[in-house]
Amino acid sequence: MLQQTTVAAVVPYFERFLDRFPTVQELAASSEEEVLRYWEGLGYYSRGRNLRLGAIAICEQHGGELPADVETLQQLPGIGRYTAGAIVSFAYDRAAPILEANTIRVYARLLGYDDDPLRAAGQRLLWELAALLPPKSGAGVINQSLMEVGSLVCRPQMPQCPDCPLQEFCRAFQLGLQEVIPPKKQRPQITQLVEGTIALRRRGKYLVRRRGPDERWAGMWDFPRFPLTSVDYNARLTAMSTRSVQEELFDSLHSNWGLTASQPGDLHQIRHSVTRYRIRLLCLHVVYDSGPVQHDDSQWATLQQLAELPLTRTSRQFAEHLAANGR
Ligand code: SF4
Repeated sequence: MLQQTTVAAVVPYFERFLDRFPTVQELAASSEEEVLRYWEGLGYYSRGRNLRLGAIAICEQHGGELPADVETLQQLPGIGRYTAGAIVSFAYDRAAPILEANTIRVYARLLGYDDDPLRAAGQRLLWELAALLPPKSGAGVINQSLMEVGSLVCRPQMPQCPDCPLQEFCRAFQLGLQEVIPPKKQRPQITQLVEGTIALRRRGKYLVRRRGPDERWAGMWDFPRFPLTSVDYNARLTAMSTRSVQEELFDSLHSNWGLTASQPGDLHQIRHSVTRYRIRLLCLHVVYDSGPVQHDDSQWATLQQLAELPLTRTSRQFAEHLAANGR
């Protein structure tokens, strides 16, 4: 849950999740859709899905007990080498190495390793070092401490070397290279996109589709969504461009779903970011006219029913906008 977010933001999610799924058995018995509803808003939805699959594997293959060794843990869905080492050392206090963003930086600096530590050779070297560090007893505390040193002292910028307990062992400090190790990553080129989404209403219900396993936000429900070319990312919406957007969205709805609609409402705008993409999403409310109502992986749902479904973040915002405007 903590990936790319803060502890303060995660605490309410964590508490709600544990209230609903207090045991591995209850998580294993749940549906993917319900787990995703509890995960909604956290992003990285494959983690929620894998947590449930892991619970199922623990119940079916391990008698409901979390394995206590790195190799067996790594057989579970979603558990890689770092997570396995963290579980074994934190939960069972057994010697197991960990390597994550903070410790990668600390170890690269300790060794004075000036190549990219994320490449295969760097990873091999750092895992070798990591394996030497945890003692037989107290491994969890040592691993936690090394992560804390990385987070609080050996920070990416301006590492606090005078206060560092590892200073006397640190090659980068001895060479004065702590600011340039590890080498800075190139920032990915930002891409601006314009997309449109449609809330198509029919008899008080809206059409939503479940995103496919190979799509971003897999398993989440979403209003039909299309790329838009009739307006630029930064262009102000005028009466004319609004009409062009409406026409383009009607065309997309027809060519992708065979559906026609009318009575377009005002365009509602949401700006959001996904990895290197900055997306301007224009949201349109329309009323169903004609076309097939049954589609694979889709359903018609009232706003109340949408409140129970796991929705993408933007569809949730759009649904809340519709509810606030009495749709
Ligand atoms: S001495 Fe400086 S560079 Fe070395 S581990 Fe400590 S904080 Fe990091």
